[in-house]
Amino acid sequence: MKRLLLGTDNQAKLREYRGLLLGIPFVITTLRDEGIEARVKESGTTMEENATMKATTYATMSGLLTLADDSGLEVDALGGEPGVLSARYAGDFASDRERIDYLLARMERVPWERRGARFRCIIAIASPSDDVELCQGECQGVIAFDPKGGNGFGYDPVFYLPDLGRTMAELTMEEKNRISHRGMAAWRARQVLGQLGR
Ligand code: IMP
Repeated sequence: MKRLLLGTDNQAKLREYRGLLLGIPFVITTLRDEGIEARVKESGTTMEENATMKATTYATMSGLLTLADDSGLEVDALGGEPGVLSARYAGDFASDRERIDYLLARMERVPWERRGARFRCIIAIASPSDDVELCQGECQGVIAFDPKGGNGFGYDPVFYLPDLGRTMAELTMEEKNRISHRGMAAWRARQVLGQLGR
């Protein structure tokens, strides 16, 4: 079977993708499996740019069809921040907990009805010959006043889903994958990969 490279080091994302891409006509491989040590800097100004840059660079390095994503949190009351800077909000070396504390501090005076936010994910699928397909997914929620739940990663503990009455970090991985931005983008990516694997 042909191989598909997942261009990320984020172990939580890799776990989610292994579930989301079950049944595709490709064997999944990783940067570590391929011995690729160089890392693409996320220097773009949009998630589309970063996802494309990662997928095309790793596809050229490996000679394999490559899937890479860029994702982030957009908070309405902060004019769409942290957006493309979600991973580095509160500084390059901050922990998930420090990023959450920084976000909550910035939203201290924002009332419940103005705490709307969305996670966005852009998946880029690139071939070594530079063809790129983009797939997008979004998930709407509300920034909670306090973190809750121990699953997932990143901002999941403060991303409250009104329809489910839980934060993203209180969902199992299967529940999260059914409704998440990454789940939506991956659903489209599966269709592209289905065509490419024929
Ligand atoms: P990147 O896509 O690796 O650039 O990371 C984007 C950042 O957005 C992550 O480090 C998280 O802080 C945040 N993020 C992206 N997706 C999720 C998610 O599913 N849950 C929680 N935080 C996320």
